[in-house]
Formats: sequence, structure tokens, C-alpha cells
Amino acid sequence: MIAAERGLRMGLVTAGRRLLALGLSPATSGNLSVRAKNGYLITPSGAAYDTLSPEDMVFMGDDWTHSGGQRPASSEWRLHRDIYRRRAEAGAVVHVHSPAATTLACLRRPIPSFHYEVAFAGGKDIRCADYATFGTQELSDRALAALEQRRACLLANHGAIVFDADIERAVRLAERIEHLARLYWQALQVGEPVLLDDAEMARVVEKFASYG
Ligand SMILES: [Zn+2]
Repeated sequence: MIAAERGLRMGLVTAGRRLLALGLSPATSGNLSVRAKNGYLITPSGAAYDTLSPEDMVFMGDDWTHSGGQRPASSEWRLHRDIYRRRAEAGAVVHVHSPAATTLACLRRPIPSFHYEVAFAGGKDIRCADYATFGTQELSDRALAALEQRRACLLANHGAIVFDADIERAVRLAERIEHLARLYWQALQVGEPVLLDDAEMARVVEKFASYG
């Protein structure tokens, strides 16, 4: 195994443990991946993040098929594959069933511009993808549509998915989305939050882009 790939595998182990510690990955829910040379590395199916080692990560090759000889890849491998295919800027993908984001996803309620940090996802809102059965191509197609000009979306009656340039950033973004989902949910307990207008959100998106 080349050193660079070893580093990517170790990054997935660390990221999984962090998601578990943050409470973003109850039981064995969710899955993670990183873009690698000629393909991507993904957590195996039914993975408990606290028991995974670097060798357990499954390599999916350039022909986007399973390389064989290992544990089966996460059932959501299509979703990860399609993000890497369609979004050149994606270096890592994090899918979670985190409590607050999943609560809103079950209400099929997108997160609007109630807080300027919603722009961390890349635009004025965080969409909720239409429902499709887990592990299907249909789910991937719907998620990709909701991710248009965004780095994060909710998945109806399921959870959330985010991507970013590397695994550390992607985990941080998943954490931010969960925090925003909780704040939005809390605000709804008291009343209807005041939304920032499109011009203000465009200004914030611009500012975020300029500090990289
Ligand atoms: Zn899932």
C-alpha cells in the first residue's frame, strides 16, 4: 500500500471516530469516503466506526466497480461515486443520520436563510432531496439534484450528505449542518424565524468564498 493511500485510509478512521464522538453517527448509520488515485476509498457496509481499521476501507476503482477481495462497500457507494464523477471539487463525502438534520429531513423541510451560516453549504438554503429508497440510483440522482451549487443537502426521511475538499473539512461541514438544523428546529419552537433576503445571502456566500 502506498503511503498516500495509507494516509487517506487513516483519515477515514479518524473522521469516523470524530463523527461518533460528536453523536452524528448513531449506531452504524452513515458512511464516509475520500477521493483516491484512480478511484475512491469508502467505509465498509454496516461499519461501527470505533472498530474500523485503515485496512477495512474499500477501494472502488476508476471503472467505479468494487475492487473485490474485501468487505462489501457501504450500500450508498453510488451516491459517493456520483458526487466524485459530477463534482470535481469534491475530495471527501460524509453521509450522516445525525439527529437534528434527520428530524428536519423527516419533515421534508429544507433549511432556509434563517442564519447567515447556512451559506456554508454554498447558497441561500440547504435543500431537502426528494425521497428514494436507500442505496438506489434514484436516491443518488435526487441527492445530486439537491446538491446543485451546494455542498450539503438533507435526504428526505433519511439524513444528510455533505462533501468538501478533504475529509477534515467535510466532517466540519457535517457538524455545522447539524448545528444549523438544531438551531432552526429550536427557533421554530418559538415562532417563524426571520429570514435573510437573497441579496444578503449572496453577499455572505461571496465573503465565505473569498476567505477560502
Ligand atoms: Zn443513510
